[in-house]
Amino acid sequence: MNDLKLTLVVPCFNEEESVIEFYSEVTRVFRDKVDDYELVFVNDGSRDKTPQILRAIYEKANNVKVVNFSRNFGKEAAIYAGLKQSSGDYTCVIDADLQQRPEVVLEMKKILDENSDIDCVAAYQGERKEDKFVAFLKDKFYGIMNKLSEVELYPGASDFRLMRRQMLDSVLEMSEYSRFSKGIFSFVGYNTKYIPYEVQERAAGTSKWPFMKLFRYAIEGIVGYSTLPLKAASYAGVGLMGISILYLIIALIVGAVVGEITSTVAIITILLFLGGLNSLFLGIIGEYLARTYLQVKERPIYIAKEILSYEDKNKGAE
Ligand code: UDP
Ligand code: MG
Repeated sequence: MNDLKLTLVVPCFNEEESVIEFYSEVTRVFRDKVDDYELVFVNDGSRDKTPQILRAIYEKANNVKVVNFSRNFGKEAAIYAGLKQSSGDYTCVIDADLQQRPEVVLEMKKILDENSDIDCVAAYQGERKEDKFVAFLKDKFYGIMNKLSEVELYPGASDFRLMRRQMLDSVLEMSEYSRFSKGIFSFVGYNTKYIPYEVQERAAGTSKWPFMKLFRYAIEGIVGYSTLPLKAASYAGVGLMGISILYLIIALIVGAVVGEITSTVAIITILLFLGGLNSLFLGIIGEYLARTYLQVKERPIYIAKEILSYEDKNKGAE
C-alpha cells in the first residue's frame, strides 16, 4: 500500500510570506509518514517574490514542480494547471497559507488507504472561523445552489480534498473555461467521504478573495451548474403574457361598459414594470451567452510561461 504516490497541488497568488513555511511544514509533517510525494506549486501570476522563492525551493528539493503563469488567471485556473501536472495516485488540492493543515492530508490518505471503495476524501469546515456574515451568505448560497442545480454541494466543503487517480482523470476531462471546482467535483460523481477540519488562521498575508470576487464566484457556481434561471425567464414571460391578455380583455370590457378606459398612471407603471423585468431577464440570458461565447472560443484556461519539473532536473543530472 505504501508505494502509492501522493501529489499536493498548491495554488499561490502573492504568497511570498507563506510558501516557505508551507513547504517546511509539509516536509516536517510528511517525514516518515509518506514515502513518495511531490509538490506542484502553481504561481498564479504573483506580483511579489513568490516566483523567486518557489524557484529556490525547486532548486533545493527533488520533488517539486513549479508552474509559472504568464499573469493572474485565478485560483480555479491554478488548480486545473496543478491537477494536470499531478503524477500521483492520490492528489490533494491545498492552499498555500496553512489554513488547511498538512496533518489533515495524512488523515485523508489513511482513509483512502484503508477503504478501497472510497474515491475521494473532502474536508469541510467543522467550526466556522470566518466572518459571521460571510458564513451566513455562504450557507444561503449552498442552500440555493442545492435547490437550483443538479449537482449537490456539501455545506462548508472546500476544494481541500484528496482523490484517487481515476477521479482526477475525470475532473481533468472537464476542461470548461468558466470553472467552479466544487461543482466539478460533485458533477464527476464517485464516492466521496466528508470529514470535518478546523480552518487555521492564515500563516501570513491577507485573503486573496475580496467580497466582490467571492460574490462573482457564487454567481459562477449558479450559472455554471443550473439552467433554472434561464427557464424561470421563460416561465415568467409566458405568465406575464397571459396576465397582459387578461388585462386587455378586462380593460376592453370595462371600457365598453363605462365608456372611458384606463388612467395614464397605470399604463406608465405597467410599462416600467415590464421594461425592468425584460432587462432583468436579458441580463440572465447575457450571463449564459457570455459563458457560451467563452467556451466556443476555446480559450486556454491558463497560459504557463514556464514549467519547472524535478523530473527534468533529475534527468539532466544523470
Ligand atoms: N489564490 C490563487 N489565485 C488567486 C487567488 C488565490 O492561486 O487569484 C490562492 C491563494 O494563494 C491561496 C488559495 O488560493 O493559496 C486560497 O486563497 P486565500 O487564502 O486568499 O482564500 P481564503 O482562504 O481567504 O478563502
Ligand atoms: Mg486562505
